[in-house]
Amino acid sequence: MRTDQSTRCLMSRFAHAAAGICLFAALAGCTATATQESSAEDEGESRGEALTAGYTKTKYPVVLCHGMAGFDSLFGVVDYFNGIAETLQAEGADVHVTHVPAFASSEQRGEALLAQIEDIVAKTGKAKVNLIGHSHGGFDVRYVAAVRPDLVASVTTIGTPHKGAELADFLRSNIQNGSFTEKVVSKLANSLGTLEGLLSGDLSPQDSLAGLDSLTAAGAGAFNAKYPLGLPGTACGEGPESDGGMRFYSWSGTTPLTNVLDPGDAALWVSSQVYKEANDGLVGRCSSHFGKVLRDDYTMNHLDEVNQVLGFVAVFATNPKSVFRAHANRLKNAGL
Ligand code: CA
Repeated sequence: MRTDQSTRCLMSRFAHAAAGICLFAALAGCTATATQESSAEDEGESRGEALTAGYTKTKYPVVLCHGMAGFDSLFGVVDYFNGIAETLQAEGADVHVTHVPAFASSEQRGEALLAQIEDIVAKTGKAKVNLIGHSHGGFDVRYVAAVRPDLVASVTTIGTPHKGAELADFLRSNIQNGSFTEKVVSKLANSLGTLEGLLSGDLSPQDSLAGLDSLTAAGAGAFNAKYPLGLPGTACGEGPESDGGMRFYSWSGTTPLTNVLDPGDAALWVSSQVYKEANDGLVGRCSSHFGKVLRDDYTMNHLDEVNQVLGFVAVFATNPKSVFRAHANRLKNAGL
């Protein structure tokens, strides 16, 4: 039973939950969470209002950086940041979507990201970029900010397990006690990563276990010791809003089940059971804190944070695209 659950957790991490999970959700009596939420910050967010020219026109390009098992697009159709680049571009932002090896260490991914940032800076003629990373992508952007702060105007992380993801520790401990083998995990992860690499035209070598280790508490702790910029000094506090000429922000959700039509929800609910604190299905609330914490309790799960799967998010709660839109306006107003 435990191993069976672990497998489901793993699948949710890879955002490849089978459509059959829908049926599981229905059988389990899971219901969509539809909580009305609002905050002062949300008031300015879009709920279908007309476009405002220049609302998201930041001074520097906005760069969207995907998480583990991420892909910039599948068949050129399904964007990892589903509909988000379009939302920001519609009101003036210059948006770039990067692509790094799906499963690799934060440093390896960060190096791949840095090369793309250098390209973006060269092509646009802008001195810096605004980096936005989801999940593991939050470590990648922190790496770039640490090694090339001159290229970075701001760093924003969304649902990033800065103190580690308990699921990664859970998988690691199950490997160590033999519940399932390292071979099985690496094979599954590498095959998914390679498949996505083929589909999106990137054949970079994959290293699933390095990716997993980067997200354990020990792996995140080792990364944090080397690259502490923007981190909170306390267990669940906020980090500095700025340092070294850069701004730092984060946000996250804490509702694993938000839309019964989403095939990923049941898997995220199962993986959420591994966690001791409120979480988005894969990342704990306090672990997500970085820089200024804009909000840490959106009615969103880990996939909702990037408007997945295919826009199936909580119906009556703040829409993820609206949060990105408001953030671009925040960056603009900060002169970034
Ligand atoms: Ca969803």
